[in-house]
Amino acid sequence: MFIDGRSLSTNDLPAVDIAIVGAGAAGITLARALAGSGAKIALIESGGLDWAEDAQDLAAGDLGEQTYGALDAVRLRQFGGTTGHWGGWCRELDAIDFEARDHIPFSGWPIAKTDLDPYYVEAQDILHLGTARYHDSEGVAAENKVTLPVARDAAVEPVLFEFSPPIRMGEVYRDELGNGPVAVYLNTTVADIRVSDDRRSVTTLRLARDGGSPVALAARHVVIACGGLSNAQILLQSDQQMAGGVGNANDQVGRYFAEHPILIGYAAILSLGDAAGGPFAFADIGASGRRYRLAFQPSEATRRRESRLSTLITIEPPGPTFDPATGLFDRADARWFGPPETIQAIAQLQAKGKARIHMLNAGLETRPNPDSRVLLSADRDRFGLRRIKLDWRLTDKDLEDYLANLADFAKGLAKAGTAVLRIAPDARERFPGETSWGNHHMGTTRMGTDPTVSVCDRDCRVHGLANLWIAGSSVYPTPGAANPTLTLVALALRLADRLKAELAA
Ligand SMILES: Cc1cc2nc3c(=O)[nH]c(=O)nc-3n(C[C@H](O)[C@H](O)[C@H](O)COP(=O)(O)OP(=O)(O)OC[C@H]3O[C@@H](n4cnc5c(N)ncnc54)[C@H](O)[C@@H]3O)c2cc1C
Repeated sequence: MFIDGRSLSTNDLPAVDIAIVGAGAAGITLARALAGSGAKIALIESGGLDWAEDAQDLAAGDLGEQTYGALDAVRLRQFGGTTGHWGGWCRELDAIDFEARDHIPFSGWPIAKTDLDPYYVEAQDILHLGTARYHDSEGVAAENKVTLPVARDAAVEPVLFEFSPPIRMGEVYRDELGNGPVAVYLNTTVADIRVSDDRRSVTTLRLARDGGSPVALAARHVVIACGGLSNAQILLQSDQQMAGGVGNANDQVGRYFAEHPILIGYAAILSLGDAAGGPFAFADIGASGRRYRLAFQPSEATRRRESRLSTLITIEPPGPTFDPATGLFDRADARWFGPPETIQAIAQLQAKGKARIHMLNAGLETRPNPDSRVLLSADRDRFGLRRIKLDWRLTDKDLEDYLANLADFAKGLAKAGTAVLRIAPDARERFPGETSWGNHHMGTTRMGTDPTVSVCDRDCRVHGLANLWIAGSSVYPTPGAANPTLTLVALALRLADRLKAELAA
């Protein structure tokens, strides 16, 4: 049932068992999973059913001097959240991503991949994906009658992404939620979390809306599912009763902000004919009615043996072509492959369709960094809430692991005799200045067993608050290299089971 918060004529809404704040991938997943439980559920969404400028304005923030997407462009304020314009690239995290690793300070999830495996199965379904085949590059290659550019057991191995159509959750699940028992409050922004006198539990939420004064909603449990940036914002801004914000006794909220730096053109390959898999290597490919994309990632064995971070490398469509008029490739990068006479030889092969140059694209895992942060700026939105100030930090070491992964990938390609890989001579100078990003917001309310270095526990319950929970990729202690949405949907399903048990107790 949809209710427009702007038309509410009461100051107090009927109390609920569970209030979920934010109707994006995480919030909608939770609401659907809890809808049939018999519990009274409210889903509170700051935006309306469709995109609107005044709602989107609430997502604006301050980037300081750094290069990053405007904060009201890297996420959406509307029913369905940022799935309104996500790309649909999906991949599970690997077992090693959950482990504490000596070479990565602050690493280690308080859960293992096996804790999530059953939920991953259901998450695949929710995102309209097939059976997980993330490590079955060989099978998908065989179905397409092509060979893999590197051996399946190479140090940097061929793996797969699967594409969600991509589903827009606000469209796909609109009728189900609109006609179901969950009270979905639209155009209603949670402005404050109020806690009990002993500061050990949440009592009510204060809801701001246009056209009227704030209203209060009492809830037995509250789940914050506002995306990786605003999950921190909402805790930080709720500082009237708890100095520094709710759940922030140890000054951890907003720290460890992680993104996936996307490095395009830091390396290129010269592939020889179709031996490297043809279009399978650089374009989406179908198999059994599903769509996949080949990627290259250091295997778990490589990551353990070499104490290495992960990278997901993809091959771009054929890149620079030879211009006979100038005798040059149309991109200077092609010169990485050798002196002019070598380039001429490559050009001749290229003209005969026997050689291609492809730029490489990579999404990097990064080290957790307490100084990489979501903070509050002095600027306020029209409800008086402090906007976000983002301070995303990367270290040179994050790049070094990518360069080492590239070196291993080069060896795999050379061994298979399919391509020659070159790293841009100026790669180190370009980082981190020439970095793009995945729009993946992680780490700001990380899970952990130690409250001095985490915000919530293994069940995603905020330390010290009995009934406050977090959903979304803000709980990731380490980001892995895989895109985050599939995992956050799986975590939301796990949280739904936890909340059902809590209500039944
Ligand atoms: C261009 C782009 C491409 C992407 N491509 C991919 C991809 O290919 N693969 C992938 O895995 N991920 C991708 N992502 C990331 C993906 O969209 C997010 O991981 C996912 O949407 C996060 O889900 P969420 O529910 O945590 O947050 P969101 O989907 O952002 O939902 C949060 C919701 O909370 C609401 N909200 C915020 N504050 C409040 C408040 N105070 N009160 C009430 N409601 C509030 C918002 O309006 C929003 O509806 C992409 C993102 C972008 C921007």
